[in-house]
Amino acid sequence: MVSGTTQVVAVIGHPIAQVKSPDNFNHYFAGQQIDSVMIPVDIAPEAVDAYLQALRGCCNMSGVLVTVPHKQRAAALVDELTPRARHLGAVNAIRRLPDGRLQGDMLDGLGFMMAADGHGFSPAGKRALLCGCGGVGSAIAWSLCEGGIAHLALHDASPAMLQQLQQRLAQHFPGVAITGLPDSLDNLDLLVNGSPAGMPGCDLLPLPAALLASLGPSTHVADVVTAPVMTPLLTLARERGCPVQTGPEMAFAQMPLLGEFIGAMPRQAEAAV
Ligand code: NAD
Repeated sequence: MVSGTTQVVAVIGHPIAQVKSPDNFNHYFAGQQIDSVMIPVDIAPEAVDAYLQALRGCCNMSGVLVTVPHKQRAAALVDELTPRARHLGAVNAIRRLPDGRLQGDMLDGLGFMMAADGHGFSPAGKRALLCGCGGVGSAIAWSLCEGGIAHLALHDASPAMLQQLQQRLAQHFPGVAITGLPDSLDNLDLLVNGSPAGMPGCDLLPLPAALLASLGPSTHVADVVTAPVMTPLLTLARERGCPVQTGPEMAFAQMPLLGEFIGAMPRQAEAAV
């Protein structure tokens, strides 16, 4: 029951009906008997500035999660960014510091890495192909580079998005070989779909079928799309015998990181993952 003592956190987006965080967090709060609630806030882009301004003075709100389309806009509006959020120009979590200033972080990449780690996949010295160089794809690319990936091939339907990420990574990670789409997938350690391909209404696959024909059984194949859980790419990969990692696995792995950052979960939750 929400009462006068309840602490409030929120997830902001536009639209908002699709988000899973309120379900996940409110089940967690109820299970742990924590007097907190997560509310969904459908907020128009032009109102995000005023909303964050109000958050600076909200004493019973410790933070908010940020989803599409506000991740970039919100990064420009907070008072402080973690180094990775500053480099990526996007946030998916904002917390209110004790003095009322707002700090933003981008945890999508870490969530992906934790889910991959759960499969025993480590990026150090490996070869990867990432499809989709937008918000989530960029965060994953950043974490792969931080994790010591040796070779990262990038693909995006938009040449401008591809070029932007390519330049950003080349500047910060000169030791990583960044290339375009390879001719074959046969010696790939990791294939990631970081694009919406596979969601209803989007392209079925993020890569040409002819190229996917060269996918071998030892490649770890991951998707960020959460619905459907088994995307056409993951279904194809499973048929080839590849280990597969789903979008909900990434979301679930990220929850303690997000919860701790916005002050909705205790610190030890991160260590327990
Ligand atoms: P975005 O719009 O910022 O970026 C998407 C990128 O994919 C764009 O650069 C676009 O040009 C590219 N793209 C689209 N279709 C493509 C195709 N067929 N082939 C290659 N590239 C293509 O979006 P985003 O915020 O990065 O979200 C991407 C996906 O990640 C969405 O489906 C979203 O629901 C999902 N997501 C998952 C999690 C999770 O925890 N699993 C978290 C956040 C977002």
